[in-house]
Amino acid sequence: MLSRRRFLKTGLTTGAAAIPLASVLNAAQQPDHRAATSTPLLPAHQLIAMPARLPQPDYAAEPWQNRVRRVGQTNMTEHDPAVMNVDEWADYWHSSKADVVFVSVTGILAFYPSKVQFHRQGKFLNGRDFFGECVAAAKKRSMRVVARMSPDLNWGDALDAHPEWAMRNKDGSVQYSTEEPRLFKTCMFSTYMDDYVPAVMREINSLYDVDCFYTNGWPPIGMLPDCSCAICSKLPASGTPAYWRVFNQRVLDLWKRYDAIAKEKKPDSFFFANSGGNVRASVNLDQLGKICSWFQGDNQGRTYDEPAVWGCSLQGRVCNAVLDGKFATNLTAAYSTGTPGWRNLSKTPEEMRMWLNETVASGMAAYNHFVGAEKGFGEDRRWQKVGEEYFEWTARHDTHFAAWRSVANIGVVMGQSTQLLYPGPATARAHTYMRETTQGIYDALLRGRFAFDYVHEDRLEPERLQKYRALLLPNIAMLSDRQCDEFRAYVRGGGSLVASFETSLYDEELNPRADFGLGSLFGVSRAGDAVGTNGNPYYARIESPQAAHPHQILDGFRDTNWLPGAQNRVPLKPVADPALTVVPGFVRYPPELAYPPVSETNEPAVVLREEGTSRLAWFAGDVERTYWLTGHGDLLRLIDNTIRWVTRDERMVAVEGPGLIEMFCWETAPGYAVHLLNYSNANAFHGWLQTAEPLGAQHVSMKLPGGMRVRSVQLLKAERGVPFDFEDGVLRFTVPSVGDYEVAAVSVA
Ligand SMILES: [Zn+2]
Repeated sequence: MLSRRRFLKTGLTTGAAAIPLASVLNAAQQPDHRAATSTPLLPAHQLIAMPARLPQPDYAAEPWQNRVRRVGQTNMTEHDPAVMNVDEWADYWHSSKADVVFVSVTGILAFYPSKVQFHRQGKFLNGRDFFGECVAAAKKRSMRVVARMSPDLNWGDALDAHPEWAMRNKDGSVQYSTEEPRLFKTCMFSTYMDDYVPAVMREINSLYDVDCFYTNGWPPIGMLPDCSCAICSKLPASGTPAYWRVFNQRVLDLWKRYDAIAKEKKPDSFFFANSGGNVRASVNLDQLGKICSWFQGDNQGRTYDEPAVWGCSLQGRVCNAVLDGKFATNLTAAYSTGTPGWRNLSKTPEEMRMWLNETVASGMAAYNHFVGAEKGFGEDRRWQKVGEEYFEWTARHDTHFAAWRSVANIGVVMGQSTQLLYPGPATARAHTYMRETTQGIYDALLRGRFAFDYVHEDRLEPERLQKYRALLLPNIAMLSDRQCDEFRAYVRGGGSLVASFETSLYDEELNPRADFGLGSLFGVSRAGDAVGTNGNPYYARIESPQAAHPHQILDGFRDTNWLPGAQNRVPLKPVADPALTVVPGFVRYPPELAYPPVSETNEPAVVLREEGTSRLAWFAGDVERTYWLTGHGDLLRLIDNTIRWVTRDERMVAVEGPGLIEMFCWETAPGYAVHLLNYSNANAFHGWLQTAEPLGAQHVSMKLPGGMRVRSVQLLKAERGVPFDFEDGVLRFTVPSVGDYEVAAVSVA
């Protein structure tokens, strides 16, 4: 247990010399380290009080889905009517304490004797009402039922009768499923969505007692459709801002229409659909967040493009930005995701558990998903125990997992249009460009243990932004004049900003501006086109390396005049007293020529500004993405120092100790929940977790709102209490170790 005296030392504020991250970790691992040297144990920070607690929501009065904590899905195959043991299926999910299960209606294959034309019955159905049996078995066990449809594909007989239903290539040929060429892809702008899908929904409502409807496979995730059918060829070109508007309109129109059909039978029924794609979602999340009743994050596991372990947490943060407390979940595939991936085979339990950990830590409901029920329910049974034990554990602590409001003082602006439509700078066109940017800033925020939220670009109202000491704009290239005005207002109100590279260089139509839309706010002006790297990238020169009091963003850089620049930069016009200037890139090979022909310039690599309580930092280069590409510790330190400078080292919750963790802090009904996800693992950035590699003590401090008493601090994974200190409103306690995950639940009065 950490002594209070040592904790008090950690509360010392700004001005202390920064220390290398590695020595922080070493110091924390070796409790006696401090005694031997004068190095502070922990980075300086200033605890600031959390806001007054929100009034308790009346859960009994909320929509039923807001009380759902666990979701189960056996994704049914055509073969399942022949092999699945319905009672065993229902017993499993019921004993797992699932509140709701998905049962397949589909649209590709009917799991009941459908009379809707082209709703083909599966070849093992033999006239049986498999859907109805599953619904009855679930209801008998008091589980709610989601009727799951798939409107994305259909068969040749439907195509013959309705050639207008198909997505078409530019040459007019039909787009087929790449894996099963007997299935064609349906166009979301065609009458397939206007006629066929409503007919199936109404048939289900007329025959069964289901609680809501869901479509898999539509809308697309993380991308926009590209169709050249008769309707789509009259629309703006796919991938353009104009197309995105038409796409959003169509999705939201259909969503509302399906929702109304769902409610024809029961007013508390609703429609929802496949979503996800985190910051790169296809549907405008501001608009979707306003109408949806259930956000279904369909990011089932790590992907090649997004190999970092935190893919599910990232989705949870995006949900928190746009849902205002509405129900959200993200699927955990208990089967083997990846490329190649085995749909009917369990994945490594450590990886499966971490995805579930991320789901609940980021404020969503746990969701366990497996495909097919061969041999009754038993060809591969390994996933079942992992999921059941996990669900049972969450059920013991439900009250601490219902998250009301995140505790965070940093907002990362989520430029959804930039993520979806911006092709990268002219120097580095790549569809992964913004993904790498996102991963870079996310990684840096985790390593700095900052408490942060995402903020949607269409939700920049002052009342939303006021909780943040600073907003980060990692290359948010597309911003409208109005959005630029909203950032100006935020700064006038005392907020701080960090921006980089091409931020605001394009308007919302992707038209380039002559100069940055936020240029005057930051005091920067564009001096030329983006410059990429051919050989040696540009360097950043420390302008006053011997200064007695170097700027805080340069803390910890010793014995060097040079720092890394970035892979790409937009040159800036000179400013007075830049902290870092550009040493232009030069030859990397041959080494004989690897020296800078021009070593000194007045081109700023960073521009810093202070206005009242606001602090602003502008990086000329794509520093977040270059950090992700290279892992260069100088870039990490520079980003970390800059975030600490603009936030004045203020923290609402501080968690200090060894290792790479992701931290969430939520206001809950009993008090607060501090979630610690342990990513210190050999497989954090590749493949799956194979083991849990436990971390040592984590020291938590947080300043509660005035007049509060602390009843207890419970560790939910360890399932025991820990001692705590509470003095002058500051709560301090130690989590002795973290396996894969720990939740410290603080109960207050
Ligand atoms: Zn089309």
